[in-house]
Amino acid sequence: MDETTSKLAFDTDWQYDPAPESTDHIRIDEQYELFIGGEFVAPKEGRYFDSINPANEKVLARIASAGKDDVDRAVKAARKAYKTSWSKLKPAERGKYIYRIARVLQERAREFAVIESLDGGKPIRESRDIDIPLAAAHFFYYAGWADKLEYAFPGKQVAALGVAGQIIPWNFPLLMAAWKIAPALACGNTVVLKPAETTPLTALKLAEVVRDAGLPPGVVNIITGAGDTGAALVDHPDIDKIAFTGSTAVGRSIQKSLAGTSTKYTLELGGKAANIIFADAAIDEAVEGIVNGIFFNQGHVCCAGSRLLVQESVADEVIRKLKDRMESLIVGDPLDKNTDIGAINSSAQLEKIEDYLRIGQEEGGEIYQSSGTLPDTGYWCRPTLFTGVSQSNRVVQEEIFGPVLTVQTFRTLEEGLDKANNTPYGLSGGVWTDKGAKIFKMTRAIRAGVIWANTFNKFDPASPFGGYKESGMGREGGLHGLDAYLELS
Ligand code: NAP
Ligand code: MG
Repeated sequence: MDETTSKLAFDTDWQYDPAPESTDHIRIDEQYELFIGGEFVAPKEGRYFDSINPANEKVLARIASAGKDDVDRAVKAARKAYKTSWSKLKPAERGKYIYRIARVLQERAREFAVIESLDGGKPIRESRDIDIPLAAAHFFYYAGWADKLEYAFPGKQVAALGVAGQIIPWNFPLLMAAWKIAPALACGNTVVLKPAETTPLTALKLAEVVRDAGLPPGVVNIITGAGDTGAALVDHPDIDKIAFTGSTAVGRSIQKSLAGTSTKYTLELGGKAANIIFADAAIDEAVEGIVNGIFFNQGHVCCAGSRLLVQESVADEVIRKLKDRMESLIVGDPLDKNTDIGAINSSAQLEKIEDYLRIGQEEGGEIYQSSGTLPDTGYWCRPTLFTGVSQSNRVVQEEIFGPVLTVQTFRTLEEGLDKANNTPYGLSGGVWTDKGAKIFKMTRAIRAGVIWANTFNKFDPASPFGGYKESGMGREGGLHGLDAYLELS
């Protein structure tokens, strides 16, 4: 080995050269209006807010804020479109429009990926390889069902509900819009969608796609604004269904507002998933899965594997390998193709995560964070591990929604299961073992809507997603996702 090779092989201080994705091919306007009745219209009260890039805190665009009157305009446009055009179309024709949206999304995938990473802070690798292709896949999948609904529910009469109000969070902005809009349209409903305040841009770009795809005006309406815009949509008397994804607290308030009304609703709320490693698991693969399960998308994932439960005899090995792997994760510029962990979505979310880092230490947890420098501006959090925590600690019980993993050990399968189920949530879970029988036993007994075995965070439009307990009610995806937008008789 000559001197240069040995230096390359053993120098641990080396860095990747930057590999930023170009922004030359995208266009972001200075100002965006509301998309109502097929046109972009100014908000009645003339209020606007900024959407910023959380990686450098610079303003990307000014965004219209929809007041009560605008919400009313959007619902009226959706009702008119439902009555006069969308419900009159043959189902196969509805399908054609939805396919068109899917194809345009695929054609413009690169542009959508870059804008998603700019507006929300997620690594370009994720928006390019996961968010945008999966969003297009949802439109393709549900387009196929539009003219086959009676085969989806044999022996039943199917009818659309009417107008759906849809409210989504900031962690998968375009993908959540696709999860909401695609099944609603396929079932013959029209929609009013409100994206999150910090990530409105890809929903507004989707509005352009809807317009360019020639959908009848008013079938899809996109209204931007903060929580009060969402609340006005929930409270509107002419909505047939509310589909909400977000925090358990807001989900609860929506449930209260709708109690006693005929409005149907589905709620996708928080999570605190356990990822359980048994001693017989393939440890290196499990460690990679744990890293993916919690550090993917900065831990801004409702189904994140935020609690590691590891069988005692392999705990030291797993923790050592986890720390080694965390050290190699690159935190930084979301547009860089090497980046593993991008920017935290907002200063408010960063504050919330930092509060939990403090709480975890006050509760007696031992904190470990990767080293390395962070950019000077923007919102960043190093991948973090808490050991020495117990089941009653807040960092173990409460959703942090950041790159923070707690580690607990167990001896028997029953103890692992008890710990896995002992939180108010039940959205997802993961099991790592070499034994098929153990997988079946665990997956039946974990009280969660989605459970992965020897893998984590895998999504497909055909599989239903949703929670038990405080993680919500109803399912999205697959046949179950159609059910939520139909009246069956
Ligand atoms: P959030 O505060 O509940 O917001 C979700 C959406 O609801 C946003 O569009 C928000 O608008 C809007 N909203 C806020 N207050 C409202 C109200 N009173 N009535 C109607 N709409 C209202 O959640 P977040 O903090 O943005 O997102 C993080 C949380 O979402 C996490 O803690 C996690 O629990 C949950 N989450 C769950 C899933 C899932 O699939 N189960 C997925 C992602 C996130 P603004 O953003 O403009 O305030
Ligand atoms: Mg933003």
